[in-house]
Amino acid sequence: MRAAILREYNADLNLEEVPEPGCEKDGVVLKVLACGICRSDWHGWVGEHPRVKPGQILGHEYCGEVVEAGPESGWQVGDRLIAPFILACGSCPSCRSGASNNCADQRLPGFVEPGAYAEFIAVPRAHNLTRLPEGLAPVTAAGLGCRVTTAWHALTDRAALKGGEFLAIHGTGGIGLSCLILGQALGARVVVVDVVAEKLEHALGLGAEAAIDARKGDVAERIRAVTEGGAHVSVEALGIEATTNASIDCLRPLGRHVQVGMPVGHTAFQTINMSAIYLKNLALFGTRGMPAWRYPSLLGLIGAGRVDVAPLIARQVPLSAASAELRAFNGPTAPGVAVISDFAG
Ligand SMILES: [Zn+2]
Ligand SMILES: [Zn+2]
Repeated sequence: MRAAILREYNADLNLEEVPEPGCEKDGVVLKVLACGICRSDWHGWVGEHPRVKPGQILGHEYCGEVVEAGPESGWQVGDRLIAPFILACGSCPSCRSGASNNCADQRLPGFVEPGAYAEFIAVPRAHNLTRLPEGLAPVTAAGLGCRVTTAWHALTDRAALKGGEFLAIHGTGGIGLSCLILGQALGARVVVVDVVAEKLEHALGLGAEAAIDARKGDVAERIRAVTEGGAHVSVEALGIEATTNASIDCLRPLGRHVQVGMPVGHTAFQTINMSAIYLKNLALFGTRGMPAWRYPSLLGLIGAGRVDVAPLIARQVPLSAASAELRAFNGPTAPGVAVISDFAG
């Protein structure tokens, strides 16, 4: 099969012919229908993701059609499925308590095992997968493997965002846009921050009440001015120090900061305003992924027409364009995300 393989950090992925993957007893092999290109792939591509090594097939945000089903998978050939990027064991204490995104024994296609920048992917532990709803295009659904579900978990299970609250979002990439769309569906009033004028316009078009250009003065002060004294919930969607501090500083007393952006490599340790956390009685939430059992809550809203994630997708690209998309994350990006939909091209 055709796959794009990371052979050297910061260099074009190699398009290679490799053997098709085998199927595990509790897993499936999917023909990949769509795979999102996520900032976490970029972290791996630049060599700053602790798990991603040369030889890796990236791609952890995918959906596909079953071409082979293990006897204990519970699925059948032809089923169309969405996979979360964390494949949990189902039996450790975290899994048993419902927090399977904290599974002590995770399997991670796209980071450790071969991912979905390929025509086929082997997905073990298929109990983590969920059926692609009728009427939801694979390209639209790809984000449900990582960015949309991560945003859903961050806003609902972590920050417990309520209708009428002000939600600030620092960074309007895939995760930031997901938070914008989902935050509005939850009834929040959303303020976004970015450094790209086109992305701010795009976010306003999707319903943000205010869009703040971080290049033009104190971000936190301007958010406090348009949120009657500060946001109730603030999402950091980049993983860097400046936006983490802007997020903490824009909150009102008792506000909740959610760390969605991944601090990794040179951003793993940051200097943050602990005084503000202390003085304002803030709460800080870390968040990563979503327990797979939470899929119905989100898919139900999408199916009922209450949430439309289609505006997330800016473009469909062939597998051969993945390198250019990764390189684009080196600088400010255009609005929306790219999804690989042609694995022969
Ligand atoms: Zn991701
Ligand atoms: Zn587990």
